[in-house]
Amino acid sequence: VVLKVGIIGTGNIGSDHARRLAWRVSGAEVSAVFDVDTARAQALAAEVGAVALGQATDVIDDPSVDAVVIASPGETHADLVLRTLAAAKPALCEKPLATTTDACLKILEAEADLGRRLIQVGFMRRYDSGYAAVKAALVDGSVGEPLLAHFVHRNAAVPDTFTTEMAMNDSLIHEFDVARWLFGQEIVAATVVPSRPSPLAWPHLRDPQLVLLHLADGGLVEAEVFVSCRYGYDVRCEVVGSTGVVLLETPTASAALRNGRRESPVPADWRVRFGAAYLVELQEWVDGVRRGVVSGPSAWDGYAATAVAESCVASLASGRAVEVGLVARPPLYA
Ligand code: NAP
Repeated sequence: VVLKVGIIGTGNIGSDHARRLAWRVSGAEVSAVFDVDTARAQALAAEVGAVALGQATDVIDDPSVDAVVIASPGETHADLVLRTLAAAKPALCEKPLATTTDACLKILEAEADLGRRLIQVGFMRRYDSGYAAVKAALVDGSVGEPLLAHFVHRNAAVPDTFTTEMAMNDSLIHEFDVARWLFGQEIVAATVVPSRPSPLAWPHLRDPQLVLLHLADGGLVEAEVFVSCRYGYDVRCEVVGSTGVVLLETPTASAALRNGRRESPVPADWRVRFGAAYLVELQEWVDGVRRGVVSGPSAWDGYAATAVAESCVASLASGRAVEVGLVARPPLYA
């Protein structure tokens, strides 16, 4: 049976996901959409063969919707996730799961009451072939014991509505999830150190910044975030093990050799860099939901990443290391 998906939020990523589900993912179709921008929702609905409904809750409750993709702004996620849990429907919620740990905890409680996992968080890097290769090298022990890591997250530019805090809870939240997933460890503390600001960054931004993440086993992850780097979208990762190093650089599909130089393109943005990962993420989510299984990044992973972002924001204010105080992990997420 084809999985009928409802989409809430038809902006950048919501419309990308809708088109992937309609045309590129097998076993799925888009049956209903909602956006506060009615014209945007109607245009997408016409394009993918869905209906545009009047409210987000109409999408969740519609009998023709088996599962929901939540791609509206982060502040709206918690209420929508709680509503889909109340309707006992699976949801793929874009990051963040919620903007506060308190809201994340309500979601964990509601899912635990149901007794089964219905929520997946959109941490698509876990589906990127490059990150998967890094994970495989750590799991097979080929570089010994993982000790520390260096991450880089650079964007060419951001709109002037972007804040210093958003570098933590919007950009680096992906690195927080990747660090936990690669090392199989929780992050127990975080320190943020701003660098000399770029003269090309918005005057209100502290950019670039370095973040030090302390792992439960004593391991360290150092992450640079620089959202005004100008030259492109550059995401890298290097994990240092006891017998070797695993390196993930920004992949390049081609290079031009001319005039004594070798030139290869840098992706313009996340759409280009992670396009293939989003497709794998959606296909695996659809396949799992059709079998009654949700096995991707969980509500617990969403909670843990938001908790690290909160500690980073507190560290921005205090200039000191801030502990990440997680509740005990419920058995549902063992
Ligand atoms: P966007 O382009 O602004 O799209 C969001 C859409 O939701 C807009 O059309 C917005 O309308 C609409 N909206 C606002 N309030 C709503 C509500 N209460 N109910 C339904 N729709 C509402 O943003 P985006 O870049 O697609 O980001 C959406 C989410 O995806 C964010 O949480 C973001 O962090 C996440 N995201 C994840 C990735 C990833 O790599 N996994 C990449 C990009 C984005 P208005 O414009 O009229 O407000």
